[in-house]
Amino acid sequence: MTSPPPPADGAALMEAFRRHLRERGVPVTQQRQAVAASVFFADRHVSVGDIEQALAERGDRVGKATVYRTLELLVSSGLIQEHDFGEGFKRYEPLAARGYHEHLICLRCGRVEEFASDRFDRMNVVIAEEHGFRHEHHRWEIYGVCPECQRRDSAARPAPTPQDRGCTR
Ligand SMILES: [Zn+2]
Ligand SMILES: [Zn+2]
Repeated sequence: MTSPPPPADGAALMEAFRRHLRERGVPVTQQRQAVAASVFFADRHVSVGDIEQALAERGDRVGKATVYRTLELLVSSGLIQEHDFGEGFKRYEPLAARGYHEHLICLRCGRVEEFASDRFDRMNVVIAEEHGFRHEHHRWEIYGVCPECQRRDSAARPAPTPQDRGCTR
């Protein structure tokens, strides 16, 4: 069985990010911390648009260039992961405390669900070995239609007639 991964520890990630900046001699500014917090404490996979909106709602004035530069720092620090779910823009999520997990993406509404599975992790290692690879990491995305969209589909569609089912009698 698969299960949802544990939630991220936003406070621990903030501390790790400050440490990462100091080690590289990058100033720990209020703006950089605000951008980091908007990803670390988000309960979903956020886009740059989501981040800008969250910052504006909190009254933080952060320029677009700073948002992008900070996201780069966060990705290179390994504290957040960048995703491309085929929407034409990137999404971000805190990583370190969450461990490995995979994604299911709904093609209708864009909803992203997460799952973690030991069996799945082992399978990735086995597949790599079968090809002579040593497994380092992997990225796996399942695209489909979520339960809600399926329900909406079947509610919108009229019940099938006997002809539709190929019945000739
Ligand atoms: Zn959906
Ligand atoms: Zn995720």
